[in-house]
Parts: sequence; structure tokens; C-alpha cells
Amino acid sequence: MFDVIVIGGSYAGLSAAIQVARARRRVLVVDAGRRRNRFAHTSHGFLGRDGHAPGAIAAEARGQLLAYPTVSFIAGEAVSATGGIDAFSVTLADGQHVDGRRIVLATGVEDVLPDVPGLEAQWGVGAMTCPYCHGYELNRGRIGVLATGPMSLHQAAMLPEWGQTTLFANGFFEPGDPQVADLVQRGVSIEMVPVTRIDGEPGAPVAVLSDGRRLAVDGLFVATRTRIVTPLPATLGCRMEEGPQGSFVATDPMKATSVPGIFACGDVASPMASVAIAVGHGAMAGAAVHRSLIFPPQMSQAA
Ligand code: FAD
Ligand code: MG
Repeated sequence: MFDVIVIGGSYAGLSAAIQVARARRRVLVVDAGRRRNRFAHTSHGFLGRDGHAPGAIAAEARGQLLAYPTVSFIAGEAVSATGGIDAFSVTLADGQHVDGRRIVLATGVEDVLPDVPGLEAQWGVGAMTCPYCHGYELNRGRIGVLATGPMSLHQAAMLPEWGQTTLFANGFFEPGDPQVADLVQRGVSIEMVPVTRIDGEPGAPVAVLSDGRRLAVDGLFVATRTRIVTPLPATLGCRMEEGPQGSFVATDPMKATSVPGIFACGDVASPMASVAIAVGHGAMAGAAVHRSLIFPPQMSQAA
């Protein structure tokens, strides 16, 4: 019987687990190994690791965690979980069952890209979602925003901070929209002709328009939808909330979900995504799940 089973062993999950390990409690981390940022060569904005490879950051963290004697790690996928506080049972894809008193969900999310041919090949190198992560490296160059919905207006309004910005309206906005007029005030160029595909070498995207024009940009920003990759939060009965990009697991400030004994951290439980936020929320979840083993559990404010 583990004290804590952490499902998802990337930044959030590892950060939660190390708090539990440092309290000398038995913690199991189960990780399927598909980090959200695995498409990017470098990670930015995380103190102490700015510009390092995302996989190297995770691997170093995992190595440090595994040095603690009460930690177990399984490379695999949790497919279902049953039970309740003090007696959860988690089933892995290989049929193995593991038991734990608490669960931390740190499974992240995945990005659902708009259906534009050629976009996927640019994802993480020439096309991205977060200007704080990859805007600086564009050196105030040419920036495209490929519209996907209302969030793209917000993105297009911010991006002139990082370079000369063009919004590819792609049928989502009309020239007369008042918000489009605001963007023009901010110096954003608006391209109403639809984008039919994205060409170009990885890292050098070219938007091909339906009238045949080819507009090269240094970086293309896309407000994706996010999708939770696992049915676990739903089948365990965790209350969900709706964010601007997709749903996430509701938690209280200590990262307790609505279900007693289950905590959640990182992108699966936040409308804001970054390595630093995932690590911070993971540290909070780790301390809180440990305390819940000592003190009588309280009703979560997320319930
Ligand atoms: P993730 O890192 O996504 O990890 C979740 C883990 O849980 C994965 O290993 C997954 O396989 C595992 N998992 C899921 N379900 C299960 C299951 N059922 N059983 C077992 N394991 C499971 N942020 C920055 O701060 N700086 C950047 O430069 C940056 N660049 C980015 C570039 C791109 C292209 C993208 C898409 C995102 C970027 N981000 C960046 C955001 C960053 O990737 C996320 O905020 C961060 O990865 C969230 O960490 P997490 O631990 O919550 O989830
Ligand atoms: Mg997470």
C-alpha cells in the first residue's frame, strides 16, 4: 500500500512526489511519458533552466526524485481507478493493480490543433501557443496569429509586444468587428483571405492563402483547445471547470479536488499552463497530500 500514487510523472507530478518523498512517505509515480511540450527543442521562462531542453529538465528532476528510498516509478499508463480515501486501487495498462491511500492527478493535457494541413509539422518549432515561452526568440520579427476563435483576438492583441503581427482571420472575424478595429489600432495587420495550408521548413512557417499568396512568418501563434488525455478525473467523480481553452479539474488553493483523498496539479488542473506553474502547483499538492495523511481530511473548497 503506497501512501500516495501520483499519476503523471512530468513537472507537476514529480514536484508533488518529491515533497512526499522528503517526508519519507511511500510514493509511486506512474508516467506514460508524453509531456505536452515534447515537440519543442527548448523550454523558456522556468528559473534556473531557461533555454534547456524540456526532456532534459524532466529527466534530471526524475533522477533526483528516484534517489529517495521511498519512491517507486513505473513507466506506464494508469487506465482506471476505484475506491476512496485510504483505499484507492489503480489499474495500469499492463493489467497490474497498485493500491494507495491518496491519489495525485498530474496527467497534463494535450493540444488539439485546428485542422490546417501542414500545421502539425510546425508544432513546437514554428507554431506555438504561448508568447512568454517562445516570443522572445522571434527577435521582434514577423508574427502570424492563426485564428481559431475568440481567444485569438486576445493573442493578437498581446503579440505586438513581440513583433510585427498579422492576424489570419480565417473566417472567424469580419473586417467590421469592433474588436478587429481595436487590433488595427494596436498595429496588427488583418488578413481576411483564408489560410489553406502551412508550408515551409520546420521553424520557418509560410502561410499559404486561398488566393495563392505565400506569407512567411518567423513564428505562428495558435490558440489551441486543450483536451484531458485520460478518463480518470471523470470516472473518479472530480468536479470540472471550464477555462478559455478547455475544461480542467477544479481544486481548492491547496490543490485538493472535490473528491476526498484526490489532489490535482499542473495543466490538468489549471487554465494557465507553464512549467513553473506546474512545478509550483505540484509542490503545493505534494505538501497538501502529505498533510492529509496526518490531519483529519477537511472538506475541499472545490467540492
Ligand atoms: P505534462 O508535462 O504534459 O505531463 C503530463 C504527464 O502525465 C505526461 O508524461 C503524460 O504522459 C502523463 N500521463 C497522462 N495520463 C496518464 C495516465 N493515465 N497514466 C500515466 N501517465 C499519464 N511551458 C513553459 O514554461 N515554457 C516553455 O517553453 C513551454 N513550451 C511549450 C511548448 C509547447 C509546444 C507546448 C505545447 C507547451 C509548452 N509549455 C511551456 C507548457 C508546458 O509544456 C506545460 O505547462 C507543462 O508540460 C505542464 O506540466 P504537467 O506536468 O502538468 O503536464
Ligand atoms: Mg499535470
